[in-house]
Amino acid sequence: MEHFDLIVIGAGPAGGAAAFWAARAGLTVALIDRKSFPRDKLCGGLVTGRARRHYAAIFGHEMPFDPDQRKTTVDFRHRGQPIGVIQDAPTLCLAMRWDMDAMICGQALGAGARDFTGQEVSALNFSARTVTLTDGRALAYGVLIGADGVNSQVAKRLFGQSFERAHIGFGLEIEATDPHLSPDAPIRIDLAAAQWGYGWVFPKRRSTTIGVGGLLSGNPGMKRTMAAYCDSLGVTAPEARIKGQFLPFGHFRRTPGRNAVLLAGDAAGLVDPITGEGIGHALHSGQLAAEAAISALAAHRPETALRRYRRALRPLHRSLRMARLIRPVIFAPALEPSFARAFARSTTLRRQFLDLMAGDADYGGILWRLALRLPRLGLMALQRRRIEEYTKSP
Ligand SMILES: Cc1cc2nc3c(=O)[nH]c(=O)nc-3n(C[C@H](O)[C@H](O)[C@H](O)COP(=O)(O)OP(=O)(O)OC[C@H]3O[C@@H](n4cnc5c(N)ncnc54)[C@H](O)[C@@H]3O)c2cc1C
Repeated sequence: MEHFDLIVIGAGPAGGAAAFWAARAGLTVALIDRKSFPRDKLCGGLVTGRARRHYAAIFGHEMPFDPDQRKTTVDFRHRGQPIGVIQDAPTLCLAMRWDMDAMICGQALGAGARDFTGQEVSALNFSARTVTLTDGRALAYGVLIGADGVNSQVAKRLFGQSFERAHIGFGLEIEATDPHLSPDAPIRIDLAAAQWGYGWVFPKRRSTTIGVGGLLSGNPGMKRTMAAYCDSLGVTAPEARIKGQFLPFGHFRRTPGRNAVLLAGDAAGLVDPITGEGIGHALHSGQLAAEAAISALAAHRPETALRRYRRALRPLHRSLRMARLIRPVIFAPALEPSFARAFARSTTLRRQFLDLMAGDADYGGILWRLALRLPRLGLMALQRRRIEEYTKSP
């Protein structure tokens, strides 16, 4: 049986970053993905400043974007009505995951990770530390990273389910070519296009990515919501071309793994509960998981990988918890109209929101500024939420 220091399952941003970081540090790495690359992944492809910073820190160069993929104008709407166009926003970039993920996976393989893409996993044995592929080959590992996305089989084997349905988000998207907006058109964000979520229009070179997303529990009729959103934009959206996927929406796993098995990216629930951004956190957590594997293996204690990884993830977990505290003020049906009014009135609030979207600000700062602006109702919601967060959440 072939032995690897590290096996990574899933070659998206989290797995690709982990495999690259570990292979470059000299570990023997196997990178497994059920798909061959390039492959599609349902995603708006909005790459924030945070994601670009993590990418550069891992791969040692800027993520390449053409000028028409860099946006600095954002058109905010509430129930279709304009509530502010910002023309000098921090740069937000748009990518097609088909290209971006192939580039990331290619770099991991280029750094020396062994290529097991296009291979399904048929069995995981955590006590023997082996992964069996459907072609019958068994691979042994020191540390295993499950970066296999929201429907993670590794998480399911560890915890009985990939995610908790009560807290999961869901997104629907279409790549619209008719009409296709000019690639120079601004990004559009529609607050309240979905309950506990929003709608988006991302004009790209060959298509426009249009989507709605939010907490699944708040949107039992998400398909109708998507149809209404497309109608409001004047876009024909045949049902067959609309695709949907679960999206962790802030309910991260406080314990992202067990001993020598780590979960990264969506598999660990690391998506922002307000903006839905997951690419940056996937890259970052992949790197942190690889770093934990490197140090645990160097200490000849692979079972300590989780302890090391959890410690490294603390700042990210803190920030996601903070975002969950703020979320009701923006999305709760009783509060969202007052938020939209404040948003339309206040340039500062719009700026702060954009800075968050772009990954140029953290939630700690905005929490206090929001608290000063909020009507009493909002403050009460925040307090109630804070009590809930600290008493029962992960
Ligand atoms: C509709 C929608 C829109 C979104 N828009 C944005 C956005 O604009 N910006 C943003 O930052 N985030 C966005 N996200 C979130 C973002 O897509 C994810 O957070 C991000 O892709 C997570 O990366 P990952 O590497 O953890 O997982 P993934 O990108 O899902 O990669 C997981 C990989 O694991 C592989 N895999 C799965 N199961 C197995 C298995 N059993 N064996 C082997 N391989 C397996 C898959 O083939 C895949 O390649 C969006 C999500 C949705 C659903």
